[in-house]
Amino acid sequence: MTPCIYCQIIAGESPCHKIYEDDQVLAFLDIHPLNPGHTLLVPKKHAEHLLESSLEDAVALISAAKKIVPAIMASVGAQGCNVTFNIGHSAGQVVFHTHLHVIPRYDNDGYKPWVNSGEETDGLESIAERIRDSM
Ligand code: AMP
Ligand code: ZN
Repeated sequence: MTPCIYCQIIAGESPCHKIYEDDQVLAFLDIHPLNPGHTLLVPKKHAEHLLESSLEDAVALISAAKKIVPAIMASVGAQGCNVTFNIGHSAGQVVFHTHLHVIPRYDNDGYKPWVNSGEETDGLESIAERIRDSM
């Protein structure tokens, strides 16, 4: 089985540019940044993605993000920030160890926001009902 690159970084077996560390979380710079300061926050305990991580690890990631994000934004002069989990291949996940992307953003950085589907409202209530029923 291929070793998990983030587990290797956590174990100190692969290098990283460390930003922050506590008992549960490690944060380091993304090696292929979308903008300068692009950071990954990962739980030290391996899980494939957010839904497989414990609630405690998820809370630890958000708690660390609350500390780290303002420092990242200030240090690179960002005007905004995307803070996002990718879950699964179809959502763009490539590394299957839970991680939170922190991507500094600028008004004119050229990245496009998601394109929504317009004013399509038919069927919203039935989707909402299906989701409620699935919980
Ligand atoms: P995702 O597409 O959400 O799975 O994102 C995985 C991210 O991990 C990508 O943005 C990669 O650039 C980043 N990445 C992969 N290997 C490394 C590494 N060794 N050090 C830092 N970031 C990495
Ligand atoms: Zn891992």
